[in-house]
Amino acid sequence: MVFEFSAEFAKKLDHEFLDEKVRRQFYIPADTIYLDGNSLGLCSKATEESLQRALTEWKELAIEGWLEGKPPWLWFGEYLGELLAPLVGAAKEEVVVANSITINIHNLFATFYQPHVGAKRKKIVIDELNFPTDTYAIIGQMNLKGVNHQKYLIRVQANDNNLIDENEVINALDKDTAIVFLPSVLYRSGQVLDMEKITNKAKELGILVGFDLAHSAGIIPHQLSKWGVDFAVWCNYKWLNAGPGSSAALYVNKKHFNTPVGLPGWWGHQKDTQFAMNPYFTPADTAAAFQTGTIPIFAAAPIEGAVKLIRSIGIEKIRATSLKMTSYLFYLLDNVLSKAPYNFVSPTPRADQNRGGHIAIAHPQEAFRINQALKTRKIIGDFRPPNIIRIAPSPLYNTFSDIYQFVVALREIIDLKEYEKFSEVRQAVT
Ligand SMILES: *Cc1c(COP(=O)(O)O)cnc(C)c1O
Repeated sequence: MVFEFSAEFAKKLDHEFLDEKVRRQFYIPADTIYLDGNSLGLCSKATEESLQRALTEWKELAIEGWLEGKPPWLWFGEYLGELLAPLVGAAKEEVVVANSITINIHNLFATFYQPHVGAKRKKIVIDELNFPTDTYAIIGQMNLKGVNHQKYLIRVQANDNNLIDENEVINALDKDTAIVFLPSVLYRSGQVLDMEKITNKAKELGILVGFDLAHSAGIIPHQLSKWGVDFAVWCNYKWLNAGPGSSAALYVNKKHFNTPVGLPGWWGHQKDTQFAMNPYFTPADTAAAFQTGTIPIFAAAPIEGAVKLIRSIGIEKIRATSLKMTSYLFYLLDNVLSKAPYNFVSPTPRADQNRGGHIAIAHPQEAFRINQALKTRKIIGDFRPPNIIRIAPSPLYNTFSDIYQFVVALREIIDLKEYEKFSEVRQAVT
């Protein structure tokens, strides 16, 4: 596709590729260009309505909501799992909504990491660039099982371009490896890992494979079941737009439905006897077994509206539009912002299949203060140390014109040295 750097051309793209009706569903903060949907997606009317309905049910049904809510709250985690399943290429009983990513990683490692059984496979392979909480949870599980993580946690190093080479991951796998656990999309650079290739190799070696889909769920299609991925986790507040702290989801491949749950709780019990209050745990015979305590209905309810909206558009179409948006951003970066005095570069891989929904833009010295200047102009991306601004155009509520205006603003911020007005001290959440 041939692009141009002009407001008219961006408008033309909006007209050709975007659906104004979908965009109007979203609450976009006033006068703001919001490009941070991979950190916290925006609220839509559909999401608001599904949350509101749960609140109304509580008022009108009280305790009866567990069975008479629509859908009944008792099965809400399973119901939402079924809604989410096609977005990750799973069977409906392989997905359930529960907890947060971090707790789900704890549960799945408590379940699938069994180094003390037979004492054979002790190694876990991850990458050094993954989101910290994933590593904290895994090391926590290794500690609980008395395994020295300094010896048995293998963190695949990034290459010179700060990317993870799948071949390096594969080289790290051997007959002592129990689990390989990786992000689908790296949260800083936006690199997509070849999940199928890694899964194939791991399976050949008898290694379990898990993925954290936090940065791909809702923006990229997946084929977890077909690839034979063993387990996965993701949150619903990023590209899925289900709201701050909305419940997370997990996937467990059918073949593991009989594996004893590492962190059992009554919400994972077989539903027909859950309220018999048996002192011993009889797990559900699906991924639902991996729930723990009572589902937080108000953190789960928004997921329904959010996922239905995404499914009404179709994940394949969302991905296709997202790639057009990020291609346009690359074009503008290369043609408008790459040379002195701008000096922006992107560490995000260029090939369509190697990049997710967001683009990382690096500035050698001033990324943090430039992001402050953007914020003051009500253009919201986010800063990730040491020198990255992440820009995440959502095909649901952003436009090509947003991207164009972002680039114009970035150029002015450098031309006018606007960033010099800001302090270099960081606040807690950026
Ligand atoms: C956002 C994100 C998380 C967040 O974990 P929570 O337990 O939901 O707070 C974890 N891992 C990755 C890779 C993420 O991008």
